[in-house]
Amino acid sequence: GEVILKAEGLVKHYPIKAGVMRRTVGHVKALDGVSFELYKGETLGIVGESGCGKSTLGRMLMRLEEPTAGKLTFDGVDVYSQKGGAMRRLRRDIQIVFQDPYTSLNPRKTVGDIVGEPFEIHSDVVPKGGRRKRVQELLDLVGLNPEHINRYPHQFSGGQRQRIGIARGVALNPKVIICDEPVSALDVSVQAQVVNLLEKLQDELGLAYVFIAHDLSVVRHISDRVGVMYLGKMVELGDEDQIYGRPTHPYTQALLSAVPVPDPTLRDVREQIVLTGDVPSPANPPSGCRFHTRCWKAQEICSTDDPALELRPDGRSEHLSACHFAEARAVV
Ligand code: SF4
Ligand code: MG
Repeated sequence: GEVILKAEGLVKHYPIKAGVMRRTVGHVKALDGVSFELYKGETLGIVGESGCGKSTLGRMLMRLEEPTAGKLTFDGVDVYSQKGGAMRRLRRDIQIVFQDPYTSLNPRKTVGDIVGEPFEIHSDVVPKGGRRKRVQELLDLVGLNPEHINRYPHQFSGGQRQRIGIARGVALNPKVIICDEPVSALDVSVQAQVVNLLEKLQDELGLAYVFIAHDLSVVRHISDRVGVMYLGKMVELGDEDQIYGRPTHPYTQALLSAVPVPDPTLRDVREQIVLTGDVPSPANPPSGCRFHTRCWKAQEICSTDDPALELRPDGRSEHLSACHFAEARAVV
């Protein structure tokens, strides 16, 4: 596929301030060197426990934050060096859909104002006289009644509110949408409808998604490829079937072993890998492989040598793993 978005060594460190002088006493290493490519029209899922840096990554891809280091390229353009009008134009192409449809929509604005808001900033996309009609088209596109344009967010259900957020996200015809936990706040029955809507829009509009979530099943359903994050790093990256069927990184293997097995006859077959200890603080991550303090396969080299995310002997095609001892393990 053709690359639309490319992240190279993205780093985000937040200073930790202390004392009356607010001196910097350390750094939270929220993101510590993440690289990947997003292809046109695909869905790249990003999974990991809370605090692994996946939301920081989402914000960096939107340039809601400036990087500590690293490079982001959108369609050949260096994102972090753009200024003023050029950056504004770029913002049309990369949009975000947030997690919580209850708090991300302004309760005092009508649905028409919310969905049409991007046209205020990017005023040349749709002429003023045509905006109401365009908003109604967008409502129809996401499965809402165009006649409800004057209603307020509280008059909609959670799933409908997320549709409003999605309508706003596609209003400017973006090429990439960062979906940050877009269904986590919704009932399970509603989650599938919203995921189906995202897939429909992807096909119709040719969108590429970075789909950030902690729910492994949802990510599996929607993703073409999946990246697994741990403590600010991407530890495994590959096709959905590689990650879920033959993971090679011990952390991925542990995460998957904890997913409930739907088939009761397989329940005793799956061997659960129980990780010891808590996730270390991102202010003071372990040396070498960051996972070594919890990894049952760790050897001496793991506490000194940081394994690169690369093609490993047991991986196939573009299946990358950041483990010195990467080894495929079938998941039942
Ligand atoms: Fe475990 Fe070592 Fe692989 Fe890290 S490099 S995941 S500690 S075996
Ligand atoms: Mg798809």
